[in-house]
Amino acid sequence: MKWEENVRKVVPYTPGEQPQDQNVIKLNTNENPYPPAPGVMDRIAELSPERMRLYPAFPEQTQLAWALAEYYQIDREQIFIGVGSDDVLSLAFMTFFQSKRPVLFPDITYSFYDVWADLYRIPYEKKALDEQFAIRPEDYRQPNGGVIFPNPNAPTGVLMELSQVEEIVAANRDVVVIVDEAYIDFGGTSCLPLIDTYDNLLVVQTFSKSRSMAGMRIGYAMGSPRLIKYLNDVKYAVNSYTMNYAALQLGLPAGAEVTSFMDCCGWSVRCRERAQSGVQGLGFTFPKSYGNFIFVSHKNIPAREIFERLKENGIYVRYWDKERIDDHLRITIGTDEQMEKLYRALEKICG
Ligand SMILES: *Cc1c(COP(=O)(O)O)cnc(C)c1O
Repeated sequence: MKWEENVRKVVPYTPGEQPQDQNVIKLNTNENPYPPAPGVMDRIAELSPERMRLYPAFPEQTQLAWALAEYYQIDREQIFIGVGSDDVLSLAFMTFFQSKRPVLFPDITYSFYDVWADLYRIPYEKKALDEQFAIRPEDYRQPNGGVIFPNPNAPTGVLMELSQVEEIVAANRDVVVIVDEAYIDFGGTSCLPLIDTYDNLLVVQTFSKSRSMAGMRIGYAMGSPRLIKYLNDVKYAVNSYTMNYAALQLGLPAGAEVTSFMDCCGWSVRCRERAQSGVQGLGFTFPKSYGNFIFVSHKNIPAREIFERLKENGIYVRYWDKERIDDHLRITIGTDEQMEKLYRALEKICG
């Protein structure tokens, strides 16, 4: 059709499958297998029809913002809250990556980055990870229009030391550096304390993984008040009411009740350590993971085959038919019981 010439064409991000069958073992999208903080369910009964009638509060003026600011010991002007970190990251791409120079990110990383860059017509350049899947800080020293990487990286699980993160931020004072810390609670050290030193550093986190609330869509960014102001300006230019009233109310206990979510992270970490030795015995190799997932490759069975056979057995993991990673599977760490079923299936497939 003629009108199609005027359409913005994009190749969308492909999320992991969301099977509606409750009996499948879902280890494909890094959801947390444990329930959210106990107070979350109590709050459902308190939701008010009167408040639903009204537009929701501005996220940065809610108790949720207070709770997060208090938990992280930062000012409320240093925090931005959005509809999951995908919303926050997408707005950050739109806001901060306005240069004609390329934005830099790793070649193996969260596969949404190049989608947003294409969508917003942002030039970018991918920097190859080394043989061990590590980011090389020296690759991020060339002139550029901004830098973004997850730490720990996804889907590899590889963690960069804080000193190396700082090296990248310090070498790029003229642009914004975004560190996507979706998995930082599973054993990494956050670079958050650096935001007081570096006004060009934006740290993005989410309730989806460590706080067991992927379904409520809550994410947040922390940085200098100046960065946060620019982010808010763009947000209010796109949609003033991004977060719904229920998410803001139900998110509060998960933001404030710190012990529950730290317990869950501890369980996932211990389960991850067991999983690493478990799959090693079955002929898999993997980089040491600091996320709630492992990125494994089998010594002689193709990843696609294992992926398909697991699926036949009702176990969903993540596979990408993409150069450099098509011999790998990303397996989310589930409960001990789910992992036992996984090992049994893998023994059948690989044994
Ligand atoms: C899961 C994930 C996100 C997005 O999570 P939201 O559910 O949108 O908060 C962002 N970055 C990485 C690296 C992720 O794995």
